[in-house]
Amino acid sequence: MSNTLSIIRNGRLVDGRNFNGDSLNILIENDTILEIVSPHTPIPKMATVIDAKDALILPGLINAHTHGDVSLAKGLGDRWSLELLLNASPLTSENFRLQDKSLAARLAAVEMVLYGCTACYDLFSDFPYPTLQSLEAVGEAYREVGIRAIIAPLMADRTFWTAVPGMIDTLPKDLRQKILDMNETPGDLVIDSVRDAIRNWPHAKDSIYLGLAPTIPYHCEASFFMSCRKLADEFGVRIHSHLAESKLQAVVGEKLFGCSLTEYLDGLGIVSSDFTAAHCVWLNQSDIQRLADRGAHVAHNPTSNLRLGTGVAKTREMLKAGVNVGIGTDASTCSDALNMFEAMRMAAYVSRIHQPDPEYWLSAEDVLLMATEGSAKTLGLENHIGRIAPNYKADLVFIDTSAIQYIPLNNPVRQVVFQENGSGVKDVMVGGKFVVRNRQINGVDYDDLRSQVSESITRIREASTSQESMVSDLAPLVNHFCVGLSRTKLPINRYIES
Ligand SMILES: [Zn+2]
Repeated sequence: MSNTLSIIRNGRLVDGRNFNGDSLNILIENDTILEIVSPHTPIPKMATVIDAKDALILPGLINAHTHGDVSLAKGLGDRWSLELLLNASPLTSENFRLQDKSLAARLAAVEMVLYGCTACYDLFSDFPYPTLQSLEAVGEAYREVGIRAIIAPLMADRTFWTAVPGMIDTLPKDLRQKILDMNETPGDLVIDSVRDAIRNWPHAKDSIYLGLAPTIPYHCEASFFMSCRKLADEFGVRIHSHLAESKLQAVVGEKLFGCSLTEYLDGLGIVSSDFTAAHCVWLNQSDIQRLADRGAHVAHNPTSNLRLGTGVAKTREMLKAGVNVGIGTDASTCSDALNMFEAMRMAAYVSRIHQPDPEYWLSAEDVLLMATEGSAKTLGLENHIGRIAPNYKADLVFIDTSAIQYIPLNNPVRQVVFQENGSGVKDVMVGGKFVVRNRQINGVDYDDLRSQVSESITRIREASTSQESMVSDLAPLVNHFCVGLSRTKLPINRYIES
């Protein structure tokens, strides 16, 4: 194959490290940035010229934590705690056919890329348990849209209702029976099926990889977690888990294990440089140090943490300790838009509530670095994506400076972080190819996607009446139990209370 050269001219580069609106040309060979050169450097003869007049050019944003499987469930809940969200999971999983899973992934990928996201870590729930066939369909959806992804199937060998100690015993007999009838999938079956998917995974050539997402520490037996660690070591895949997301989780961890969840997972050998912990709201100082010492990563999801009322993660403490922190949107059911600009702005804002000293707060540069280089590290792809630099993939976002948020354009990096809402994203390039051009997605017929989603959601709703009544019968009981348990005092000085 002969090499293709292209050059992006007249754009102004913005990142959290080197550029704040600098006018420079980007020379691209095939899918990779070859050089960043002065606008006066002669243009190579064979190069295709891409004019980026009136554009700010950012590294593609990287979503460190999302769940593509629930993109069909937008608007499903309002005053949901994390526990009420988990209680509603039958509505977003049980009546999904293969084509619904693939459609949900496509919808999520389209939404992300229209908002300038070029890679994500998708913790996809593949009910009743992950299989090669459906993960392959999810991977194919990402390939069609044209963004990079780690697809980490959510895994567990317990259900939410049986995992929270004592909760099931407080439920009336008929509801208890319905839950027990749901069948927890045997851990060995889950692990074997995921091993099969990893062995036969066809999408790595398209930068779509598999990962492992044992979902929540006490939703999995210790032996299940250890099997995940073995799989990760055997195949070099990454692990991602929700860690100390809500106060209830921290309380349950103390109750079951007599220590923090971080300490517990570390004891099982999970916490390592291939491990990403999502949320991390309820950590103590030694948990943070432990994550730093092991070279583990945090996926910070500020919009989700606010929406579900779980708290605010101490990102400055994490960065100070040397923990790598990326930024995620989380899912359509808990933080609504899969919009990294919203997540960045929220990350900057919520960092300001813990301390009056602005030195402690996250700056625009801090959060842009977290959403690019930081998130790239959570995916283990930091040598390939997340920067505008030679030898990095040409994953770039072109922002239209004629959008209202840039009039006037005083400080590009600050305006991108504090004012951009995604509406300024005009073009998006992944690996040197435009996947979004003039706000239109290239790989997917948008109108066809809309009509498929409409058909699919109508069918799923019709099929879910018994799940709906079970979820609504359970909700007040689950809420009462979980709120009560959440009021348990955590060991003094072990946790940094907000
Ligand atoms: Zn999550």
